[in-house]
Amino acid sequence: MGNRDQMQDRFADGAQYIGGRLRPGTSGRTQNIVNPATGETVLGYELAGDADVDAAVGAAREAFPQWAGATPGERSDALHSFASVLAAQADDFARTESLQCGKPIKLSTEFDVPGTVDNTAFFAGAARHLQGQSAGEYSADHTSYVRREAIGVVGSIAPWNYPLQMAAWKILPAIAAGNTIVLKPAEITPLTSLMFAQAATEAGIPDGVINIISGAGLGAGEHLVGHPDVAMTSFTGSTAVGKRVAEIATSTVKRLHLELGGKAPFVVFDDADPEAAIQGAVAGALINSGQDCTAATRVYVQRPLYDQLTAGIADVMAGVRVGDPFDPSTDLGPLVSHTHRDRVAAFVERARAYATVVTGGAVPKNHPEGAFYLPTLIAGAAQDSEVVQSEIFGPVLVILPFDSDDEGIALANDTPYGLAASAWTRDVFRAGRATREIKAGCVWVNDHIPIISEMPHGGTKASGYGKDMSVYSFDEYTQVKHVMYDNTAVARKDWHRTIFGDR
Ligand code: NAD
Repeated sequence: MGNRDQMQDRFADGAQYIGGRLRPGTSGRTQNIVNPATGETVLGYELAGDADVDAAVGAAREAFPQWAGATPGERSDALHSFASVLAAQADDFARTESLQCGKPIKLSTEFDVPGTVDNTAFFAGAARHLQGQSAGEYSADHTSYVRREAIGVVGSIAPWNYPLQMAAWKILPAIAAGNTIVLKPAEITPLTSLMFAQAATEAGIPDGVINIISGAGLGAGEHLVGHPDVAMTSFTGSTAVGKRVAEIATSTVKRLHLELGGKAPFVVFDDADPEAAIQGAVAGALINSGQDCTAATRVYVQRPLYDQLTAGIADVMAGVRVGDPFDPSTDLGPLVSHTHRDRVAAFVERARAYATVVTGGAVPKNHPEGAFYLPTLIAGAAQDSEVVQSEIFGPVLVILPFDSDDEGIALANDTPYGLAASAWTRDVFRAGRATREIKAGCVWVNDHIPIISEMPHGGTKASGYGKDMSVYSFDEYTQVKHVMYDNTAVARKDWHRTIFGDR
């Protein structure tokens, strides 16, 4: 059976998952899912319309009282089963993720899927540790305590770069805290989000707790964000769309969580291990074909190491194996679509007018049918140029020199974004200063990219606000309620004097 037959068989009932079952969309518009390595269409499906969003929100609303009323232990048990079901289907998830995104199979197998299983297991444990402030008598006549409560129906919107992981990051903390959810994946990559929801049902998570709407942003996406029965919007995607989502969510007074774009700096001080920095820059820039919001995009190198790093990075990039994502030896697959590849290529073509393309900067000749682009290094661009300031979201790295530590840190901070950064040095004081002064949600020292379930992920500045993963994500998906008990049992309280005087 070919990929197309397999997917059409699997999603024969449609690509909307509402109330625990697949059904077709009702927008009247068809979307093709294309394997970007070959250009082959693997599934055509009907996009969600407003009526499908309404049905999904209705299912989530109906499921909410029972799910929110379950004990943390019960939700935790369900999430443990969910992790086991996912682990048992790991190969299927990895293959499908590589098919719809073009990710090298070793990345899907070693990163996307095990990361998702681990996130699920983490939130199974964390579900039992939703903590509030301690209770006590903060006024002589009262006892106060704080309840941490689920918010209601969460409407989430996710991007195409890590479809499975983004679905997991949005869904898991929300449901662990007792919310129910409607997730809209990117319309070009909905397959593993649908499989994720199906696996949850298989694991015993009640129908309606997780619903997937495969629809366009303009249309189903905006309808979900503005929906009156959705209590919270959590969005991961570009800063431009995030601003639009914020406008709609704000006008309907919703809790809002925004994980937006990035342009991560990679700052190499002159005492760094050059070999480690070269390896780290190439790996950090090329992971997922550079379609990673935390990818290294701007390498700043202190002048004494600049030439060595430029030559070393170009050399390592030229040795990266670009090709078939299903070949286990492939390092770099295609970009997610031909449209996106052309957008990335256009950034590089414009840069030729003001900078030097040291390596790459072309479509590889041996893969004409796929959305491939060679690993690319650009030198000589000014700090205020487009390739240094804008998110390219492809395998394109820029390299710039700096002289003093002050200058290196200032340049690192000089973009609108603030998601991730790294500092490369063997001097503990330099590292400490960089971690304090670089404005980003995460700063690595002598590494770039690793993430773990226990630690928060999220940005500052134009990269958004709020945290994914870790117990910090519960701050997004819960609300605290103050409960205050009178302890005096008297009708005329002391403070009533302010109303009644001496009467
Ligand atoms: P995008 O903003 O184009 O789309 C993201 C999602 O929003 C998609 O599901 C899309 O259909 C939907 N959408 C588009 N227009 C909409 C609208 N008007 N209303 C509601 N929804 C709408 O982003 P993308 O191209 O899919 O993904 C790449 C971007 O995501 C990059 O900017 C990247 O940095 C960012 N990203 C950020 C993080 C993070 O954690 N900060 C993680 C992954 C990706």
